[in-house]
Amino acid sequence: MSSRVRIEVPEDSGFGLTHLPYGVFRPSGGVPRVGARVGDSVIDLAVALDDPMFAQPSLNAFMTQGPQCWREVRERVRAAAESELPAAAVHSVRAVRSDLPVEVADYVDFYASLDHATAMGRIFRPDGEPLLPNWRHLPVGYHGRAGTVVVSGTELGRPHGQRRTDSGAPDFGPSRRLDIEAELGFVVGVGSPLGRPIPTGDFGEHVFGVALVNDWSARDIQAWEAQPLGPFLGKSFATSLSAWVTPLEALAEARIALPPQYPEPLPYLSDSAPWSLDIALRVEWNGQLVSTPPFSRMYWSPAQLLAHLTVNGASTRTGDLFASGTISGAERGERGSFLELSWGGTEPVEVNGESRTFLADGDEVVISASAPAVGGGRLTLGEVRGRIR
Ligand code: CA
Repeated sequence: MSSRVRIEVPEDSGFGLTHLPYGVFRPSGGVPRVGARVGDSVIDLAVALDDPMFAQPSLNAFMTQGPQCWREVRERVRAAAESELPAAAVHSVRAVRSDLPVEVADYVDFYASLDHATAMGRIFRPDGEPLLPNWRHLPVGYHGRAGTVVVSGTELGRPHGQRRTDSGAPDFGPSRRLDIEAELGFVVGVGSPLGRPIPTGDFGEHVFGVALVNDWSARDIQAWEAQPLGPFLGKSFATSLSAWVTPLEALAEARIALPPQYPEPLPYLSDSAPWSLDIALRVEWNGQLVSTPPFSRMYWSPAQLLAHLTVNGASTRTGDLFASGTISGAERGERGSFLELSWGGTEPVEVNGESRTFLADGDEVVISASAPAVGGGRLTLGEVRGRIR
């Protein structure tokens, strides 16, 4: 008879039974498969639930099933986590390798933080209005590169490209102004057909869950190329995604009303259900905490982002990822990019005793986050970690 084990969840774990995020992992020598994280353990769902839907290298086959299936599986995972499991169904999170949890279909990045948009306006247009005229009327965004979304822990090479110089002509070489953007990503489980926008009220019917994002940005490449069509090679070299996707249901206690929106958005953007989220982020640079961006201050809610993304009739697919844009608060210590933290490179940040502006080779950035958990305490979102080679 095979041995059975019971998972111990430490009292202060951010991965308790009311969280249960999903990811894709490889046991030592094994093939990738879907797991749920409980405490410091990963449950192999194909084994524990005896269901081939989880013997897959991504969450997509599960996500496409829809909210009723998501709820049922969550109940089954919780029951499994509380019972004795076959030893073959439980792995230490430290003994497995994480893969990208989602086969990313399309990737869209927004610009939904008022504090971030205002700070960027002040840095780049110090003599003008910080916000451009469209900003309070629609969530500004762009389509990014799905194929270069990588899982947390992936090391990055410094991107090369045409860099803006003070002479007016560009030069070519490795980015000198390599930056991060601390963001929250939303993963679409159930897609929508061409020609049918997703109203704000249907957010929970389509979105499977939430994961942290680091939208790496080469500011010197971006500053030269992005006019007039917006982000391109300064962004597309890599976007890091957490290995764990937190189901929307786990964030029920974190849902809060949006800050006031003025002027009142057009009817298709009106959002009666509170879909802002009280999620507190932390940005660590080489192990030192440098910023604590609050998602609770975001101007546009994720339901408004999805409604806007589809209002022209654009379809969505299982695995679509849309990110909030840099999350910044009003205070200096709440800014979600180093461009803002160092105010365009003019106000260096002290990191472990060194005066710093942008990323140096060998630097590591870890973005983490926590939110109120259902039933009390706090849950911890899966971190997003990345190091520059
Ligand atoms: Ca971004």
